Amino acid sequence: MGTSCRCKWLQAVRRIERPARPRQMESKKGGHQMRTVYMDHSATTPVDPVVLNAMIPYYTDIYGNSSSVHSQGQKAARALENAREQVASLLGASPGEIIFTAGGTEADNQALITYMNNNREKRRHIITSAIEHHAILHTCEHLAKQGFDLTVLPVNSEGTVEPQTLRTALRPDTALVSIMHANNEVGTIQDIKELAAISHEVGAVFHTDAVQSVGKIPVNVKDLGVDLLSASSHKLYGPKGIGCLYAKKGVRIGSYLYGGGHERNLRAGTVNVPGAVGFGKAAELAQQRLNQNDSTLWELGQRLRRGIIEAIPNTRLTGHPINRLPGSVSVCFEYVEGESILLMLDSYGIMASSGSACTSGSLEPSHVLLALGLSHEIAHGSVRLTMGKDNTIEDVDYVLEVLPPIIKNLRMMSPLGQ
Ligand code: PLP
Repeated sequence: MGTSCRCKWLQAVRRIERPARPRQMESKKGGHQMRTVYMDHSATTPVDPVVLNAMIPYYTDIYGNSSSVHSQGQKAARALENAREQVASLLGASPGEIIFTAGGTEADNQALITYMNNNREKRRHIITSAIEHHAILHTCEHLAKQGFDLTVLPVNSEGTVEPQTLRTALRPDTALVSIMHANNEVGTIQDIKELAAISHEVGAVFHTDAVQSVGKIPVNVKDLGVDLLSASSHKLYGPKGIGCLYAKKGVRIGSYLYGGGHERNLRAGTVNVPGAVGFGKAAELAQQRLNQNDSTLWELGQRLRRGIIEAIPNTRLTGHPINRLPGSVSVCFEYVEGESILLMLDSYGIMASSGSACTSGSLEPSHVLLALGLSHEIAHGSVRLTMGKDNTIEDVDYVLEVLPPIIKNLRMMSPLGQ
């Protein structure tokens, strides 16, 4: 089925099949007791109330510019440095190696663009993988247009970059290798330690986009052996619009924005102190959670994965079965559109996401799923359910109750053949 036909069908599903969302949590729908279940934590997380409370004074009382010499500015500056220490501690870095940015996208752009430009005289080759977030892939494409050589590594069917594939692609003039730590769609975790060590053999610098892993699994820059790392606060119960770039001491990056000398001349612009305070507090809380070594999220993920496969035929789990983010479930349902499943789930109070999005009349399957070797048809039926610290076994069981009849009904009205 062509993409415009798919979109028309989706629009029909939107019109016909989506009943108004009941206001009351207690209300029943199709015999099911309604619940509100947020399973889109890889897209973003709610701000932890403790984090929010830590931030508020930096909007209301201590609102001075952290570059100002007066007492309020100095208080803000101290809070900023405290936040830097908290983030550095979560990553096993020194505070002086943390540059606050406006999020993961900016950190990715700064790492790749400024490192490649600063080292362009000696090395002009950059390597990345086919399953990166667009913050990396589009930045690499931009660099290729600027005259740098780009190699995009394939992944295997579980979404893993095989070390030998990287070894073969490396060249004496490889400046930078950028491979994500955990994938945002299928949840696969890469063996960053090995990939970084291989890259260092030819003198290349290693960057990892750790936006999805920081706060969810242990991430220590020294253990991983990375030179550059991007993180984002809103994926770990912190505010949006703040993130950081870790740059190992001595790695030649530069400022990506022109302006003032903030962040040791590495990020121009008045610093978002409340955001940094929130990010710092979120990092501290994440560290406490990780120290507890709690396996609940992993078990919830396994229960959901198992339950889906057992209850729904013609279904494929995607990503690595073991080396994956806890609480992340990625699945493709044959003969249905991911977006129509999302709309139906939403009408039952369940919030999830899909690898494909129907924008401007075209429905493109996820580049990540295609890179795993899935066909367009299968990739179109993808759904991602990503759990967080507040999800419960009741949430999982509710999804397992509601999802099978949704898929059955959608398949019955699907023009895709079942
Ligand atoms: N990298 C990955 C792997 C992501 O999942 C995301 C966001 O979803 C980003 C980068 C972008 O981060 P931000 O939203 O902070 O710009």
